Amino acid sequence: MFDYTSIKAFHTALQNGQTTCVEAVLFYTQSIRENAHLNAFLEVYETEALERAKELDAAAAIGQLVGPLHGVIVGLKDVIAHKGHTLTASSRMLGNFQSVYHATATQKLLDAGAIIIGRQNCDEFAMGSSNENSAFGPVLNAADTTRVSGGSSGGSAVAVQANLCMVSLGSDTGGSVRQPADFCGIIGLKPSYGRVSRYGLIAYASSFDQIGIFSKTLEDAALVLEVIAGPDEYDSTVSQESVMPYSKVVVNQANDTEEKTAGPSKKFKLAYFKEALEHPSLDKNIQAQTLAYFEKLKQEGHTVTAIDFSLLEYVVPTYYVLTTAEASSNLSRYDGVRYGHRTTTSAIDLTEMYKASRSEGFGEEVKRRILLGTFVLSEGFFDAYFTKAQQVRQLLKQQTDGIFRDFDAILSPTVPSPAFKIGEKTNDPIEMFLGDIYTVYANLVGIPAISLPLFTHTNGMPFGLQVMTRSFDEMGLIHLSAQLMELRS
Ligand code: GLN
Repeated sequence: MFDYTSIKAFHTALQNGQTTCVEAVLFYTQSIRENAHLNAFLEVYETEALERAKELDAAAAIGQLVGPLHGVIVGLKDVIAHKGHTLTASSRMLGNFQSVYHATATQKLLDAGAIIIGRQNCDEFAMGSSNENSAFGPVLNAADTTRVSGGSSGGSAVAVQANLCMVSLGSDTGGSVRQPADFCGIIGLKPSYGRVSRYGLIAYASSFDQIGIFSKTLEDAALVLEVIAGPDEYDSTVSQESVMPYSKVVVNQANDTEEKTAGPSKKFKLAYFKEALEHPSLDKNIQAQTLAYFEKLKQEGHTVTAIDFSLLEYVVPTYYVLTTAEASSNLSRYDGVRYGHRTTTSAIDLTEMYKASRSEGFGEEVKRRILLGTFVLSEGFFDAYFTKAQQVRQLLKQQTDGIFRDFDAILSPTVPSPAFKIGEKTNDPIEMFLGDIYTVYANLVGIPAISLPLFTHTNGMPFGLQVMTRSFDEMGLIHLSAQLMELRS
């Protein structure tokens, strides 16, 4: 029986002849079939994946593994372009659109030897926190199928949680990788803005969007990041900073006696926002376990300091003003003319055709955000909302620089509550938005952040700890995370 723990262990098994890529593909495609009720995948590329697995097995038989992700079974959130494959952003608006090119991240995965197993369900255009906004139905949390997976990358999170693939790529504009990772008890890594190329990622809010990684082990996340990060001539916002050997810093978590390369005994200066841990929306059990964990960190010799962060109340409004503004512009390209859904209503003029196509094609949440974004950008309101929000973003960046002059990392819960029941928040969009209070900050200021699956709630659901470091300090983030994972309760 195929058994997966990490990419490294899988590669060792491949090299020892204990498994093959074909066996891995057969295992995961069967697992996906058996778990179809979770609704994590919108499409599975079974034949294609098997073909590729055979090629990879043949290559390995004559020598080396093809690349660092040889045979690694990866799922892609349905917002990441994969040439020749359907790409819909879980929206009816895109119809049966086929990608005409690979996203840079997809190309890099393939070059590294990965096998793409399928396209994963998500909130429509990555807008949401529960995966209930998908045109193709919600994704169920495998830990309790009456609860949401989180969103917007719900399918990608549940696919890793339920062993339907080894790792997934999602996108994180305001928490869409970290929040579902928290709800599903896995790792969710959002790199710094500009660390991974956005070329081929369907745009939601371009100054916030980043491709992120779901995995079961930190080492896997670090290795995938190493592969997909780096400069790209197709994305002018991507950084020229060199990609570090992120996977080398990971202290091996499982029964592995490997040398601990990067001095795991380093003591960190950690901070948390007092307002975050005292926030009235924070679940009491999450609060208690997080604070108890901070005590444990102190006993380990780290410093954990509560700092004031009075801007916390402004992060969610600022995020929603700016992201809806960007979304209203980004989504204006879906007009039903060049591709995607076009109304069948006949004998109408061009403007009516646009209106009818967009009204029919977009779901309720996407329409809400386009309207909101158009409103905050409109004459007469622009300065009161958009300009103001830009100023707050600037202030947040300044304060963040100040914090990282004194501290190595900021810790917080990832989400104020564990995974909620399906349908519980669908009638209250504001409450849904407020659940993003701890995650949107990292996107507003562009810093890297990770959710680590450290805790189990008294109700039995998993939840995580969020760790944030300064921009482009993914190395520090992973190094610290390795130590934090060791202290799992
Ligand atoms: N929940 C947030 C939103 O709805 C984050 C989404 C995301 O990161 N794509 O905007």
